[in-house]
Amino acid sequence: MLLLLPYLLLLGNMGCFILCSCANPGIITKSNHASLMKTYAYDGVLFQEGIVCATCNVEKPARSKHCSFCDICVHRFDHHCVWVNNCIGAFNAKYFFLYLFTLTVMAATIAIITTAFLIQVVLLSNMMHGSYIDDHGQEHAVEIFFLIQHLFLTFPRIVFMLGFVILLTLILGAYCCFNLYLALTNQTFNEWYKFRRYRHSHHLTLQPCDRKVVYKNVYAKGVWMNLKEIFKSPAVLERKKKK
Ligand SMILES: [Zn+2]
Ligand SMILES: [Zn+2]
Repeated sequence: MLLLLPYLLLLGNMGCFILCSCANPGIITKSNHASLMKTYAYDGVLFQEGIVCATCNVEKPARSKHCSFCDICVHRFDHHCVWVNNCIGAFNAKYFFLYLFTLTVMAATIAIITTAFLIQVVLLSNMMHGSYIDDHGQEHAVEIFFLIQHLFLTFPRIVFMLGFVILLTLILGAYCCFNLYLALTNQTFNEWYKFRRYRHSHHLTLQPCDRKVVYKNVYAKGVWMNLKEIFKSPAVLERKKKK
């Protein structure tokens, strides 16, 4: 059963990948422009009113951005993901999040199964109770360092893969946590990045006594509502806007 888990995760992962890369991220068109303009208020810091996209020739709604890769304006633009070859925006952010999450869990599961397999090999061979003789002819009880060395020499590919998968799990886990943080605080990656640049430029130009830039994220509505905003279906969003 445990061995089936990575395959099930792979299936879910592939599904999320396809949804993420094929779904409409939230393209701003002539027909939905008016309703998207009303979705978010301009905060006057990161998003100013009355800025027109030079390419699409429409006024940019708050939280939107023109993607130069896709050549479209995207509603609630997060980032352009080269991995899925699509923009991550209002409508496919949930698929991106699930994709990242399943990928992390998949890597972690493979790491755990491989470790369990190696532990089983060690236990079955009764290696822990043995001893070995070193270069100087002295006898030692088997300790953990010798064990890892022995396993690496016996199953070089498996141990090497395990190291790689553990590293991958850590990197993916960190990125997953960062995205979770953005989701919980209702920030897009674009806004997080823009704010950092904004803060940096203001630190340089402001007087020392005004150094502290106070910026309040006007889009945050509490942890639960922030999460809901990402996971509610576009259909609900569209319906609400039509009213
Ligand atoms: Zn545009
Ligand atoms: Zn794009």
